[in-house]
Order: sequence, then C-alpha cells, then structure tokens
Amino acid sequence: MTVPKPVVLVIAGHDPVGGAGVQADIEAVAALGCHAATAITALTVQDTRNVSAFTVTDTALLAAQLAAILGDLAPAAVKIGMIGNGSNARVIADALRRLPGVPVVLDPVLVAGGGGSLALDDLTRVMLESLFPLATVVTPNGPEARALGNRDALADCAQVLLAAGADHVLITGGHEAGEQVITRLYDATGELAAHASTRLPGNYHGSGCTLAASIAALLARGLPVGDAVRDALAYTRQTLLHAQHPGHGQAIPGRFFHLPGDAVPHD
Ligand code: PLP
Repeated sequence: MTVPKPVVLVIAGHDPVGGAGVQADIEAVAALGCHAATAITALTVQDTRNVSAFTVTDTALLAAQLAAILGDLAPAAVKIGMIGNGSNARVIADALRRLPGVPVVLDPVLVAGGGGSLALDDLTRVMLESLFPLATVVTPNGPEARALGNRDALADCAQVLLAAGADHVLITGGHEAGEQVITRLYDATGELAAHASTRLPGNYHGSGCTLAASIAALLARGLPVGDAVRDALAYTRQTLLHAQHPGHGQAIPGRFFHLPGDAVPHD
C-alpha cells in the first residue's frame, strides 16, 4: 500500500455541468496530489450560462455527512464553497471546531458566474459571525468582497473581513476593470502580496472554486499561506489557459491539463 495522500475536506454544492462546485474542487484537489472527502451542501440546477434553481441540503443530513467523514478521516485542510443558508453555516462551524489547527479556505460563494444567487436568508451574517473567525484564508472576488465588506475600495473591504476574524483575505481581481488582473493577499499587518497577470479573454465557470480548492490542497501538503496562494494562482491560470468550451456559456477550466489524456486535439 502506498502512503495515503493528504485529505482535503471539501464542503460545497453540486453543479450538474461539472464546471464549478464540488466537481471543480475534487478535480483541483486530485490534480495537486490530495484526496477530496466531500460533504454536499446543495444541489443546483444550472448550465454553463447560469443557475436556475437550487435546493440546500437538510442541515441534519449535512451534519451527518460531516460526522461520517470526521469519524473516519483526518483532514489536513478544509475547503468551503457554496453553503446555501445560515443553519448550514452553523453546522459547518461546529465541524471546524473539531479540527483545531487544520487550515480552512473559505470561498464565500454568493452568486453563480452568470449572476444568479446561491445564498439564502441569513447566510451572509452567519458566515461573517461564525465562519470568518475560523478561516485561515477567505477568497472573495471583488463583488463578494464588496457585498461582505460593505465598502467601495477593496483594500477597505479586506480590513472589514480581517476584523471579522479571518487570518488572511485574498481578493481576486478578475471582476475589476483593466488589462491586468491583480489579486491581493492581506493579513492584519496589511497587504502581503499583489499577484498580477494579463487578463485572459472570455468568462470561466468554476475559476474561483479551482483557486480556493488548490490553495487548500497546497496547504494540506504543508505549504505556508503565501506560497500556497502563489502556486495556486499559477495552477489556476494554467487551468484557464487550458479551458474547454463544452457548452453554450462560460468555459470550464482544464484542471488536468498536465495529464496526457487531456491533450486530445479539438477545433
Ligand atoms: N459552487 C457552486 C455549487 C456553484 O454552482 C458555483 C457557480 O455556479 C460556484 C460555487 C462558484 O463558481 P465560480 O468558481 O465560477 O465563482
């Protein structure tokens, strides 16, 4: 038997077209040498264009999934994506308290790439109160940072999110104007790093999930936060450069671009 891979506990929703959500997370975590254990928070109805409906997992069922995983496996990192509602956020916070010292990456998913909402009732408030204090890195995009931080300037939003208790805030720049996409990492001492890259054409479904899951995988493999963020951004950019366009909407990142089977020629 080989040495077991580090386990990443993935807590996320399902996207039937396989671009975002739990499938994105499993692919990124597997591509970076870890094993994903998945607790499903929601079933969504969506295509590569937008989301049309979703059902949040019953809170007791989510709690039972988390208990089953934690009763058996020892996660080396946690990645949280779509949560759905406030009571699920509370159950997730309870599970995280059983994992002291384990790094937690929280992608505060509020809307789908096409603009449809993925959050119900009091989720935003409960997430800020219960999950931010337990998060090692939160990874909002610009609109999520403004919705949660309630400020115009992203640097000010970062301060609000740090004050809510997150150790680090990584605000991705893909939704901001400009030829360069600048993604900035902050902690309580201020801005730690600014990662700039040339904007790629097109829109991608699951890029935020890919980034957050790859940070979690690299943290599970023992990298410090700054290095995990840098390497996860580089991996995510490669997945966007190798994105496929299987449907009628957004492209899907090529998360196994490094595998020989991925290089099938297409037009
Ligand atoms: N999680 C789920 C289940 C989703 O359906 C989506 C978007 O549709 C997301 C997360 C966020 O996706 P992205 O990485 O494109 O921000």
